Amino acid sequence: MIFRELFLRVNGLQQENEHGYTQVKEEEHLPLRHHIKCGTCGKPLTGYIVRKKELFYYNCNKIGCRLNRNASKMQNLYQDLLKHYQVTPVLLPQVQEAMEQVF
Ligand SMILES: [Zn+2]
Repeated sequence: MIFRELFLRVNGLQQENEHGYTQVKEEEHLPLRHHIKCGTCGKPLTGYIVRKKELFYYNCNKIGCRLNRNASKMQNLYQDLLKHYQVTPVLLPQVQEAMEQVF
């Protein structure tokens, strides 16, 4: 039993829950799942794949909302957002020193 649990964990799988679904905690194609919120209702977005097209989507599971967005487009927008937080290279030593003091 322990071996089975370990096998499922290292392969990114979990045992089936009481509803018969197998949930995958982390998915490399959906890195923002549960980290970004729905722009309409504020619930954390989850994700899924359309296997026939090999396309990934983020979606909102709230009944009555059901926001649905292409994962690649969302990830590009997120990358653009992160650029605002880039540190100017000349300031890196000071930032590193401050980080070391804090952490
Ligand atoms: Zn929503």
